[in-house]
Amino acid sequence: MKAVQIEKPNVLKIIDMEIPSITEHDNVLVKIKAAGICGSDVGIYHGTNAAATYPRVIGHEMVGEVVKTGSNATKIKVGDRVIIDQVTNCGTCYACREGRGNVCANLKVRGVHIDGGYREYMAVPERDCYVLPDILAYEDAIMIEPTTIAIQSCSRAQLTEEDTLLIMGCGALGNSILRVARLSGAKIIMADIVDEKLQEVRNQGADYTINLAKEDIKEKIAEYTDGYGVTVSIDAACTRDSLATLLNVTGNAGRVVTMGFSVNPTEVNQFSITSKELDIRGSRLQNRKFQDAIELIQEKKLDLSNSISHKFHFLDAQKAFDLVDSRDPSIRKIALIFD
Ligand code: MN
Repeated sequence: MKAVQIEKPNVLKIIDMEIPSITEHDNVLVKIKAAGICGSDVGIYHGTNAAATYPRVIGHEMVGEVVKTGSNATKIKVGDRVIIDQVTNCGTCYACREGRGNVCANLKVRGVHIDGGYREYMAVPERDCYVLPDILAYEDAIMIEPTTIAIQSCSRAQLTEEDTLLIMGCGALGNSILRVARLSGAKIIMADIVDEKLQEVRNQGADYTINLAKEDIKEKIAEYTDGYGVTVSIDAACTRDSLATLLNVTGNAGRVVTMGFSVNPTEVNQFSITSKELDIRGSRLQNRKFQDAIELIQEKKLDLSNSISHKFHFLDAQKAFDLVDSRDPSIRKIALIFD
């Protein structure tokens, strides 16, 4: 079979690999049908993702059809259309025992630390497969993975209808969080520096927006919250100053959720946290949120159709990554197609 491998930073190759065999552990063989290109895949390609190891078959947003199962598979059947969880963990460390395998001490993410979905076949444990809703095309189904990341951040924030939420950043991540956060009934404020993106999130249901390049965020948040500050803030921008800003505009007893991987130092002080008794919580990957996302689609609370802006055959992955590098404003989500 063929696979897309990043041999080392900035070197993308189409390689030949053996079709994986099913084993007692990896008891489901999936023929991949579509895979998404995510910002983190681009980071591994360019060598800016500190977690990645090389050479690596990348891709963690992967869907396909089950073509073979082992005798110990009980839930997943041949012919099932599935999405594969990217998180694998040891099951025995403290985080795993606490039910938080997404931050396992021995975490291995498919497409980052171990080979991922840009290949024709994958063998995985059946518990990592989730059956797709019939109504959802394979290429749209890859959007379930970014949705799980958004569900994770909203669950870390313990978001309820009582909350006023600030989402910092209106890119792909901010938009996914908006779609999920809307369902909580919380009031939602979004901030960015690009007017077109702010207009788009207003169309998608954000109650208020702030243009960080033109407006004072502290003043605007005070105006929109009667001076209290937001009760929850989620950092989907992850810029140098974003954490300090969120600590500043989040009100008493609020929660601040970080999602960035930057190692650049930023200046924060204890007073801003202690005086308001803020909870600062990281949100990483997702903790078995695929079924939650699939149920939202089945209940028609979430519509992932028409999310894909560009499609490429997976053997043309180089062209797809070149398009990403062009920063063409028409790019929303790029799908690699395998048929
Ligand atoms: Mn992703």
